[in-house]
Amino acid sequence: MKSFDVLVIGSGPGGYIAAIRAAQLGLATGIVEEEPVLGGVCLNWGCIPTKAILSAAETFAAVKHGVPGLVVEGQTPNYGQVIDASRAAADRLSRGVAALMRKNKIEVLRGRGRLAPGKEVVISRDGANESVEARNVILATGSTEFVFPGVQVDGKKVLTSREALESRELPSSLLVIGGGAVGLEFAYAYNAYGTQVTIVEMQEQILPGFDRETAEALSRSFQRSGMKVLTRTAFKSLDASGAGVVVTAEGEKGAVELRADQLLLAVGRRALVADLGLEARGVAVERGYIKIGPDQRTTAPGVWAIGDILGAQIIGYGATELINEIALAMTIESTTAELGETSHAHPTLGEMLMQAALAAEGRALDF
Ligand SMILES: Cc1cc2nc3c(=O)[nH]c(=O)nc-3n(C[C@H](O)[C@H](O)[C@H](O)COP(=O)(O)OP(=O)(O)OC[C@H]3O[C@@H](n4cnc5c(N)ncnc54)[C@H](O)[C@@H]3O)c2cc1C
Repeated sequence: MKSFDVLVIGSGPGGYIAAIRAAQLGLATGIVEEEPVLGGVCLNWGCIPTKAILSAAETFAAVKHGVPGLVVEGQTPNYGQVIDASRAAADRLSRGVAALMRKNKIEVLRGRGRLAPGKEVVISRDGANESVEARNVILATGSTEFVFPGVQVDGKKVLTSREALESRELPSSLLVIGGGAVGLEFAYAYNAYGTQVTIVEMQEQILPGFDRETAEALSRSFQRSGMKVLTRTAFKSLDASGAGVVVTAEGEKGAVELRADQLLLAVGRRALVADLGLEARGVAVERGYIKIGPDQRTTAPGVWAIGDILGAQIIGYGATELINEIALAMTIESTTAELGETSHAHPTLGEMLMQAALAAEGRALDF
């Protein structure tokens, strides 16, 4: 039986980075992945391909609406090529993760990992099982799209972000259910390419949980660019039996019927904690997420957890850049006064933090 000091289950950004660190520390490390590609949701069906599509959409919108001094003729989008480019970006990065695994001498084990009693982990692939032994296991199985009970995702008329990222055809109209970051990113991109987009959000604002001013500014900007934004409107049912989709939703003034060619379901994600053998080791789950204590320890000795299975996510435009400075400031216990006095290049996204720190000190400059 193969034996590891550390075995990581799941090769997303949580898992592959943990595996690299373990290998750098001289530990015999393996990583288990059930998908044919490494890199998890982020690289293959999340952060990377969506940003490639958004970046192309932004360029197309700039060309369409005009850039001073630039006249561009023939503005027909080829959305299939946009999707191809985004898949190519995802593939490139996924191959990069495979190269990092080789470089760090991390053994990649293909299949679905499941904890068994003692130190055993069973890896299943094509009906065959292989048992390996691991002194420590890091659970990094991530999350998957939440789908309303009874809704069939067919990848043609009814999609989640996963299918949308591979769909090369633009619908002429799209209902986006869910006004969170994922729904809004797709809404922006499809609208830029000419699809008539309606966003349906059950909370009183899009971007629930964000500050109201930001959400309202974004909502106004989306409506100015031709989208419909329905807040306080809750999805009730879907009829996809006809040529398009018909959604019944409950709005403030009662039931509304919404029709479109396609529906994109972007109503959140749920952690992949099922069928992982958690009970075999006594790994506790709390409200659908793995419970951890200090140092990412689960309730079972030798089992650790990281990433979306813990229920924490950072998402949204610029978040990935801005978070670095905030994390550094927290690590070195910087005060808002020190952050506000730090030189920031202008114009940059990062200077927003300096302004926010100055605002907290009552010394805001630009707002
Ligand atoms: C459309 C979209 C856009 C996003 N954009 C951003 C963004 O811009 N910025 C950002 O920070 N985040 C973004 N996210 C969130 C980000 O993708 C996740 O937070 C991140 O992928 C979580 O990493 P992870 O390692 O926990 O899990 P994942 O990336 O989900 O990886 C888990 C891996 O584990 C594998 N796996 C699961 N179960 C098993 C098993 N039993 N055995 C073997 N393998 C298994 C899965 O196949 C998967 O490869 C986005 C998400 C989506 C859906």
